[in-house]
Amino acid sequence: MSEIQKLKSNRRGLMVVLSSPSGAGKTTLTRKLLAAHDDMSMSVSATTRKPRPGEVDGHDYYFVTKDKFSEMIEGEDFLEHAKVFDNYYGTPRAPVEEALMDGRDVIFDIDWQGAQQLEQAAVEDLVKIFILPPNMRALESRLRTRAQDSDDVIAKRMSKSEAEISHWSEYDYIIVNEDIETAMAELQSIVQAERMKRRRQSWLGPFIKALVEGG
Ligand code: 5GP
Repeated sequence: MSEIQKLKSNRRGLMVVLSSPSGAGKTTLTRKLLAAHDDMSMSVSATTRKPRPGEVDGHDYYFVTKDKFSEMIEGEDFLEHAKVFDNYYGTPRAPVEEALMDGRDVIFDIDWQGAQQLEQAAVEDLVKIFILPPNMRALESRLRTRAQDSDDVIAKRMSKSEAEISHWSEYDYIIVNEDIETAMAELQSIVQAERMKRRRQSWLGPFIKALVEGG
């Protein structure tokens, strides 16, 4: 690693919020982003909803009881929390603060309510990205292919999608996910540009001092 690369790694991490209606491809994009960057991690939310088949506790979510969730609210263990559908979801505070201090970016798969609350808690660190499907048919067919939810739940999620989409203008960036590779390239360029913002490159002060002094 060169001296410059070493200095550059001394940065504060980004908080990257990815929101979308269910089925817009957010999970795939998140997975790809994490695979491409070893200095990124995922914020694992706590939820009172039941695990879906294949979901792993501590990886997809921390699955907790309503009582435990209330305890966590009281202990101020959450950066934000919200009720979505009939369940509660919250972002645990400690792992996020640790990652940012270490110069690692954190990705948040949370809805518009969470994004608004994070904005109040940490506006300087936040990058808000909204992912849209190319059309509503694509959304429904992705929900059905996933085949993890009953017709009932799918109908409910579809009706919630419009409400979720109505918050698009609160986001910094919008990606229309028609083609996953294109959407991924767009996502990568957003992250790259946000990392390059002057105020996020905290190593520049000493570097420029040394530069003009001929170091
Ligand atoms: P799902 O039950 O499909 O995993 O998630 C339902 C919704 O809850 C999604 O829109 C997801 O973005 C949102 N969500 C997941 N975790 C959190 C969280 O920690 N906080 C908030 N506010 N929303 C969350």
